[in-house]
Amino acid sequence: MRIYADNAATTRMSRSAIDAMVECMEKEYGNPSSLYTLGQSAKETLERARTQIAAVIGADPKEITFTSGGSEADNQAIRSAALAGRKAGKTHIISTAFEHHAVLHTLKKLETEGFEVTLLPVHEDGLVRPEELEAAIRKDTCLVTVMYANNEIGTVQPITELGAICRAKGVPFHTDAVQAVGHLPIDVKAQNIDMLSASAHKFHGPKGTGFLYVKKGLPLLNLIEGGAQERGKRAGTENVPGIVAMAAALAESAENMERNTAHLIPLRNRLIEGLKRIPHSALNGDAVKRLPGNVNFCFEGIEGESLLLLLDDRGISASSGSACTSGSLDPSHVLLAIGRVHDVAHGSLRLTLGEDTTEEEVDYMIKNITEVVEYLRSFSPVWRDLVSGKHPFIL
Ligand SMILES: *Cc1c(COP(=O)(O)O)cnc(C)c1O
Repeated sequence: MRIYADNAATTRMSRSAIDAMVECMEKEYGNPSSLYTLGQSAKETLERARTQIAAVIGADPKEITFTSGGSEADNQAIRSAALAGRKAGKTHIISTAFEHHAVLHTLKKLETEGFEVTLLPVHEDGLVRPEELEAAIRKDTCLVTVMYANNEIGTVQPITELGAICRAKGVPFHTDAVQAVGHLPIDVKAQNIDMLSASAHKFHGPKGTGFLYVKKGLPLLNLIEGGAQERGKRAGTENVPGIVAMAAALAESAENMERNTAHLIPLRNRLIEGLKRIPHSALNGDAVKRLPGNVNFCFEGIEGESLLLLLDDRGISASSGSACTSGSLDPSHVLLAIGRVHDVAHGSLRLTLGEDTTEEEVDYMIKNITEVVEYLRSFSPVWRDLVSGKHPFIL
């Protein structure tokens, strides 16, 4: 059996997205900036995709800028708000401790450029407290950026409430919604969202394509100099096939969202219940306020990396957290942010289910993870110390 349980890292492209992409490459190969018919036809295709994408999140097509993905959208949104802030004499930014590195590293860079960053705690349940955001906002705050749903532990933040606080205080609110778009219903107007980042490959579209929503009237800085594409906000010939495929994937995800959610939640809960039976294990993040397909566990006394390799041998593609930190020996900054100690955070496992995951696959995962954890513990010195009482169990 081959099970793909890493849908938070990336998803398989949907048939309709592949078909839309191939058709576009074959027929709409003109440059959208060219004035002859072939170019203008590509331009129309591009604008149709923009309209389709805007509709899914309740935005106006003019508020959508295409980017190379989630990372670029995050960089552009944050830098735009920072620059506008500096012009108005405001250099304080609020975010959270468990953001994606596309956000955290951009903020780190801005600190070296004279900005001050406050990172809100995310608590044991993996959630930000609205009252803590409210208390952190200052007169010189120029941006609040809080992710919609966390990519490791899947917790879904109270975005509407956070947005309302920012709106009331007149501070622009950005959300990295890369894990949420196509998976949760989003309405940027109703939810008080000023800027939102999304990435196609997280909802069955192609890699290297994403978009940034910026509310009308807010300044947008271009990170890439060149031609006047995207109303002068993002130079470079548009990735028309990628954008068309993204629109097709998003339309399909939006159309099937209710059905997908109804399919995923029982499977997710079955997997959580099954893994909880492993002694000295714990679910990371709130059990209910989480993405429909996300399961993230810590198992005491083992090493996440060895677990992943042995699961791969048994046909299971999973992750220890973020694909971006694998290869490094540091435990996940997300797990540390929710208060897991280093040793426990090292034994983490993220399983992210997809629309085509079956109950049979879930049961196979429970059985095999249980066996592999037991096997790894059988020769783990850390586990021996825990069992002998030399060190106390934490979980
Ligand atoms: C994947 C991801 C990104 C990065 O998106 P890319 O399109 O891969 O650049 C940013 N934020 C979150 C929360 C993600 O899950």
